[in-house]
Amino acid sequence: MFRHAEESKMSATIIRNGRVIDPANQRDEVADLAIVDGRVSDLSAIRNSQSAIDEIDASNLIVAPGLIDMHVHLREPGFSHKETIDSGTRAAAAGGFTTIVCMPNTSPVADNPSTIAWIKDRAAKAACVRVLPTGAISKDLAGEELAPIGSLAQAGVVAITDDGRCIQNHELMRRAVEYARMVNLPLLDHCQDYNLVGNGVVHEGYWSTLLGLPGWPAAGEEAMVMRNILLSELCDHQIHCQHVTSVGTVRLIREARARGVKISAEVCPHHIALTDAAIQNFDTNYKMNPPLRAQTDVDALLEGIADGTLSILASDHAPHADFEKEVEFDAAPFGIIGLETEFGLFVDLLVHKHRKIDITRLIEMYTVEPAKLLKLEAGSLSAGAPADVTLIDPELEWTVKINNFQSASRNSPFEGWKLKGRAVRTIVGGKPVWAL
Ligand SMILES: [Zn+2]
Repeated sequence: MFRHAEESKMSATIIRNGRVIDPANQRDEVADLAIVDGRVSDLSAIRNSQSAIDEIDASNLIVAPGLIDMHVHLREPGFSHKETIDSGTRAAAAGGFTTIVCMPNTSPVADNPSTIAWIKDRAAKAACVRVLPTGAISKDLAGEELAPIGSLAQAGVVAITDDGRCIQNHELMRRAVEYARMVNLPLLDHCQDYNLVGNGVVHEGYWSTLLGLPGWPAAGEEAMVMRNILLSELCDHQIHCQHVTSVGTVRLIREARARGVKISAEVCPHHIALTDAAIQNFDTNYKMNPPLRAQTDVDALLEGIADGTLSILASDHAPHADFEKEVEFDAAPFGIIGLETEFGLFVDLLVHKHRKIDITRLIEMYTVEPAKLLKLEAGSLSAGAPADVTLIDPELEWTVKINNFQSASRNSPFEGWKLKGRAVRTIVGGKPVWAL
């Protein structure tokens, strides 16, 4: 039979016998999922398809919408010795992620449309998953003058943030929220009051006192969370608090959300997997910003996840080279890599160990919730949606081996951890990009 060019380019895949969990459509059933030409399709379309059909057996696996990590540092341009768009997106695929949102603290800073265009162009050539850039709130992340937020929106950023830095001037932040509202972009904030935190490197508490390390008090986060709640109310616009860590933060956000304030927050795996007791050996792979906190804080984060106060999970994937981390604790840079461990850690801790949420809610926190916040065409398996799919084995037991990671950096404290549950296959736009 004659086929014309378009037809010969058609592709079709059927994922058979998986447990399809699609929280956006309240769907949870064992079924086949059809993909035609990069989009989720109904099964009749695949029967009519003229092309060869690839089959994937998903028996005993979960078929979920592709996971979204909305807090990743890809380090390119400027710091490609730590990570590149190529290596960072391979790490994302290996972690089960089909979409990642990258932070603007590159060199040059992503505070202008041409750097955004550069990132998008590089991603089009080198990335194996979708890369969505954010733009800076302030020029050069200096917290003094606003970046051109309207031009950044036109250049295609999905949010604005000064992540890694925090705007201290509340009046400047108010204007940022007002501009962000005009161009319909959410604002993401790394909450840190510089006067309260000073040169703090670890949680201010028992261990900072015992070890003589400068303390980073929880109030330094909570003061800015409170500021963001006030500005969100004042400007009637969405502010999202990144990587939150403390009892007080959870209480503030719970109370504000109950009143309908447009405030949200994300949790990173290290802040529930570890406490500040881990810093006793001065290993810089336990140094992150905000820092690991006390057990009471971990317990509050778990409760906040369980009751929906904290609605999004993310890695804060922050690669650094060995030579940068292998220095004394005070001098080392903050942060750890996370893309290849986060999903396993959260399934293991939230679903299996602490039983705070079920796997469906966990998938929702990695798909529907970030897609809603950032207004993305992602996070569901609706017919016609881009065929971004993650296959998950929630019972698979595995051991973290950092030397097998795709990331260009090795700064993780989770070497040798035994976890239960992980992504086993990642599909972006109908194309397989990674399989265990
Ligand atoms: Zn941050």
